[in-house]
Amino acid sequence: MIKYNLTCKSCKHCFDSWFNNSKDFERLKKIKFLNCINCNSKNLEKSIMSPNLTKTKKKVILNSSAQKKVRKKILAYQKFIKENCEYVGENFVSEARSIHYENKKSKPIYGKANKDEIRELEEEGIQTNTIPWFDNKEN
Ligand SMILES: [Zn+2]
Repeated sequence: MIKYNLTCKSCKHCFDSWFNNSKDFERLKKIKFLNCINCNSKNLEKSIMSPNLTKTKKKVILNSSAQKKVRKKILAYQKFIKENCEYVGENFVSEARSIHYENKKSKPIYGKANKDEIRELEEEGIQTNTIPWFDNKEN
């Protein structure tokens, strides 16, 4: 089960609703099964996830030599990924889906996705790894 924050585009009312998964939301919306609890409008938009589900960000405080070590590790990891995976940039989510659903036998991919997109992929059973990424210019 997943909780979404829904916003009514007609009256701007916000409310929470539970769905089986992200696809369930799209399905119910498509068959016009979702109504605003305030004005009954079907013009609803899924907004950010309920805060209690997203408040799990861990913070790490490192001294400068530890920071250097971590950075070195991450850069090595980045190098490995660059050499072994195909960069798909903003298309990451759609590429990941097509590999998953069409059984595409392609190179591993890497690219950009936001937290909500990663969560949706996970719900669909598509495993992803998130790593910190430094831009080339910082090297
Ligand atoms: Zn409304």
